[in-house]
Amino acid sequence: MIVLYAVIAACNLYLGKLLTAKQYEFIHANDHNNALGSYLGVIMTDEKNSKDIRLYGLSGLFLGKYRQKMEGFNIYLQMGKLNGKFIGSIEGINQFAAGVAYLLVGMKALNGMIDIGNVILYAGVISQTVNCITEFGSQVISFQFSAEYLSVFDEFIQSPAMDYDGTLPIEKRDDGQYEFEFHDVSFAYPDCGTQVLSHVSLKFNIGEKMALVGKNGAGKTTLVKLLCRLYEPTEGTITLNGIDIWKYNYAEYTRAFSVVFQDFAMFSLPVGENIAASSKVDEERAWEVLDQVELSGRVRAMKDGLKTQLYNNNGAGVDISGGEAQRLAIARALYKDAPFVILDEPTAALDPIAEAQIYENFNEMVKNKTAIYISHRMSSCKFCDRIVVLDAGGIAEIGTHDTLLAGNGIYAELYRTQAQYYA
Ligand code: ADP
Repeated sequence: MIVLYAVIAACNLYLGKLLTAKQYEFIHANDHNNALGSYLGVIMTDEKNSKDIRLYGLSGLFLGKYRQKMEGFNIYLQMGKLNGKFIGSIEGINQFAAGVAYLLVGMKALNGMIDIGNVILYAGVISQTVNCITEFGSQVISFQFSAEYLSVFDEFIQSPAMDYDGTLPIEKRDDGQYEFEFHDVSFAYPDCGTQVLSHVSLKFNIGEKMALVGKNGAGKTTLVKLLCRLYEPTEGTITLNGIDIWKYNYAEYTRAFSVVFQDFAMFSLPVGENIAASSKVDEERAWEVLDQVELSGRVRAMKDGLKTQLYNNNGAGVDISGGEAQRLAIARALYKDAPFVILDEPTAALDPIAEAQIYENFNEMVKNKTAIYISHRMSSCKFCDRIVVLDAGGIAEIGTHDTLLAGNGIYAELYRTQAQYYA
């Protein structure tokens, strides 16, 4: 009987392995439908989308697409049939082994070798052993199945985040003397023929407030992303204190920047943790930066202050407006207190008065740090030490508000076009 059980356990494992491989093949073949089906499911059930869906009568569109994707789901019917065949075979083998065991016990009992008490005992043992083997087999199948998925996840996690992560430490300086410079930098997005930036040379003077302006698509955000090492230049180098930025340790390098991108993210976490970008929150400092972005009143009025969860996920937290989220994003940048501050149009959702206030206060907030501001409202750039105008992939103009206006170039045109609406 022991040999018999060992054989059926081996059969269970073997068939389980075959089944897992086939199941995985099925699921994989349906990846596209699966992803789209889940995406549409999320879109249709997220309460944030309900306004748009009702106003624009989108429910028919989404449901139609969802049903279409669901048709791909008959793959699960096939998978169910396959499961039925395999699990049925496994169960059949197991029950056959149980039958053989019962037969042996029955024969012994008929021959008077064991009494009725032992028959009951053995019957119980046989059924339990077979159940254990079946359960063991099904757990192994589910482990193997999960492991197949984990391998994809593991591969993704293990893939290097950057082609190259330098080793040089960043020199710790209290005086904030971090000088960045672009040397003849060009950049094209992979598989896109045109160069977004072409032979750009630019020095960010320490402590300087620089505005980066230009029409949409001029390459302002790309320039900032190159500086933050999110992309690597296709040509040329960017240096920090004379050394190629790619030679520095990446984690240390990012500490030099406080950046607010247009597409910043706030998370469904407490307000304080969103500001600190950590579960350890220096509350005093958090209130200080909230004061600076004029949001402390709003946060104080929330039921748990800094510990209030953001976003109303199933009634868990508070919803905030786009403008408030932008102020929080700026507060996060101030909290980080890095020597180089970058604001990439973080005030687009603010009204003009709030934006003007933020920009006016910003010089005070960032004090002697180096700063880059990108804004489509030219009036916000007036207070900067230097204005750099990007156009057609290169630097078209550099100067102060007054010199650029006098120069009657792109900046003057952009400024006057906007100013006429306020005259
Ligand atoms: P700006 O900030 O001045 O509006 P961007 O730096 O965002 O300009 O974009 C510059 C150009 O690069 C645009 O033509 C844009 O379409 C293109 N671009 C931006 N991001 C990507 C990307 N991830 N892949 C391909 N092209 C991109």
